[in-house]
Amino acid sequence: MNHLECSLTGERFPADRAWNLSPAGRPLLARYDLRPDTMPRVRIRDREPNLWRYREVLPPCEPLTLGEGLTPLHWTPRLGPRWYVKDEGVNPSASFKARGMAVAVAVARHLGLRKLAAPSAGNAAGALAAYAAKAGLEAFVFMPADTPRAFVVECRNHGARVELVDGLITDCGAIVAARKEAEGWFDVSTLKEPYRLEGKKTMAYELVEDLGRVPDAIVYPTGGGTGLIGMWKAFAEMEALGWIGPERPKMISVQAEGCAPMARAFGRGERFAKEFPNARTVASGLRVPKAVGDFLILDAVRSSEGTARTVTDDAMIAAAKEMSRLTGVFACPEGGATLACARDLAEEGFLKPDDLVVLFNTGSGVKYLEALA
Ligand SMILES: *Cc1c(COP(=O)(O)O)cnc(C)c1O
Repeated sequence: MNHLECSLTGERFPADRAWNLSPAGRPLLARYDLRPDTMPRVRIRDREPNLWRYREVLPPCEPLTLGEGLTPLHWTPRLGPRWYVKDEGVNPSASFKARGMAVAVAVARHLGLRKLAAPSAGNAAGALAAYAAKAGLEAFVFMPADTPRAFVVECRNHGARVELVDGLITDCGAIVAARKEAEGWFDVSTLKEPYRLEGKKTMAYELVEDLGRVPDAIVYPTGGGTGLIGMWKAFAEMEALGWIGPERPKMISVQAEGCAPMARAFGRGERFAKEFPNARTVASGLRVPKAVGDFLILDAVRSSEGTARTVTDDAMIAAAKEMSRLTGVFACPEGGATLACARDLAEEGFLKPDDLVVLFNTGSGVKYLEALA
C-alpha cells in the first residue's frame, strides 16, 4: 500500500497513522502499487479461506480473523437462468459487515488505538463488537432504539458498550462525532475511516475467482454504499493486476422506497445526494438517509451503465421469503430487496435473459425475526 487519497480532490496522505475523513470532508481511499506480478491468481489459489488471502491488496497489519469472507456463490436457476446469490449471511456475526470490521479493527490495533466507536443500524455494531472482542479492544456502539433486538443482545454479549438512541443512524453518528474527542474514541463509522471499504471490496475479488469473469450485473442493497464503492474500486484494481480487462458489471443499487437518497439523486441526475426525509424501512441496513460516499456510489452506478431503484418494504419481505424458499439461503430483507429489484429489471428488459446476474444477500435473516416472521 502506497498512500491514502481523498476520493473527491485526489489529495494524498501518508498511511502510517489513523485517519478519518479527508480535509474536504470526504472518504479516503487506500492506494496500492499494482502490477500483473503483484498478486497472480495462481499464487493465492491455495491460501487461507478468509479475506486475508488477498493480503497484497489490503493494508499492512497483523490479520485479525473470525473466518470472514470466501462466502458461497450459489447458482440459483429457480430465480433466473444465470442468476446467482452471494450469501454473505454465513459470515461471522451473520453479515458482510464482518469483512469491513475485520480489516478496520486489525488496522486500528496495528496503529495502537484502543477504543473504537460506531453508529450502526445493527449489523455494523454486531461486527465491531465481535472483532473488538477478538482483538481485545473496547467497542462503543450507538443504535436506534428500534433496532432489532438480536443486534443489541449480540453486542452486549461481546462486551461492547451499547447505547440506544431515540432517532436514526445519522443521530447516532452525531453523538459519536460530538463525544469522540473527550472519550478518546476512534470513529469507525461507514466510510469515515478508510479500511472497512478495503475489507468489503474483497467480495468482488471472490466473484472473479469463483466465476472466472466479471458478472454482467451486480444488484446491491445500498445503505452507506461501502460494498458497492469497494467492489467498484476492486474491479479497477483487478484490471491493474491483470485479472480482468476493461469490462465491468452494471452496478445496480437498490434502496427501500421509504429511504432512497441514491435512487432519488440518480433519477434527478445529481452528483451528490440530499438527505432523505422521514427515513423509514424494515431493512435496517438500508435506513441510511445521508451517505458521505454518495458521489462515489452515483459515479459507480453511472459509469457502469447500471441504475438505482427502489422497492417497497412489502415487496422486499415477500422476495426475502421467496429467496429463502427457492434457494435455501435464509435471506434478510436487504437480500430480498435485490431479488425484488432484479425481477422488476428483468421484466422491463433492463436485465437480459442470458445476463449473468449476482444478487447479494448481505446478511442472515436470523437477525430480523420480527420483520420476517
Ligand atoms: C449495512 C448493510 C447494508 C448496506 O451496506 P452498505 O455497504 O453500507 O451500503 C445492506 N444489507 C445489510 C444486511 C447491512 O447490514
